[in-house]
Amino acid sequence: MTSLPFPLAEPPDAATQAKTHQLFAQGADFLKGVVAMSGLPPADRLEVCFAGRSNVGKSTLINAVTGRKALARASNTPGRTQEINFFTLSDSHYLVDLPGYGFAKAPVDVVAKWQRLLKSYLQGRQTLRRAFVLIDARHGIKAVDEEIMALLDSAAVPFQTVLTKADKIKDAEHDKLLTQVRGKLAKHPAAFPELILTSSNKGTGIDTLRATIATLI
Ligand code: GDP
Repeated sequence: MTSLPFPLAEPPDAATQAKTHQLFAQGADFLKGVVAMSGLPPADRLEVCFAGRSNVGKSTLINAVTGRKALARASNTPGRTQEINFFTLSDSHYLVDLPGYGFAKAPVDVVAKWQRLLKSYLQGRQTLRRAFVLIDARHGIKAVDEEIMALLDSAAVPFQTVLTKADKIKDAEHDKLLTQVRGKLAKHPAAFPELILTSSNKGTGIDTLRATIATLI
């Protein structure tokens, strides 16, 4: 299994679980929505961000990871969708919810503005340790996902692919999905060589994702 490129991440061992529990037990809170680089909070702690197409299950996953039912709801309300939303996790981490992309309905100037902000954020944020790029398990990696991945490559931000809604695909479809995803990721130098398969509904992979965050240094 581990000899494959981009294997699935192993669930955390007991020691990692304890460390993870300690971090997440301290809770997460919404800090602020940011619309310009000048609004970013000070880069004084470890940071991870979450990116994904609209409707990929990003809010639901952030809620599952933090154990807070409605934490990421703010980013889904109309008018807030173009903001970079910052959450504090304990006093040691920021979790950052990037605006969902791939919304054909957004006006061109709005899209251009957020792309500029996104680019500046990804290129300039020293404390950003990893981006989690969420991919719907039913759809695999699409062209818009590859645009974000290319941006992460050029900003040299390591990104890890998190497959969402795993409960929506049959066991027989897993291999096809993994083959597609592995094939696409092979072209991205910034792709972290492990995948995380999740279902927020079933709780699958949530501990693994938490442990990944808790063990970043
Ligand atoms: P966002 O736009 O990426 O923030 O997506 P949401 O978190 O709002 O989720 C979009 C839709 O997918 C909602 O109807 C969720 O209930 C559903 N959803 C999210 N995660 C899962 C999951 O793990 N399994 C299933 N079956 N549905 C999910």
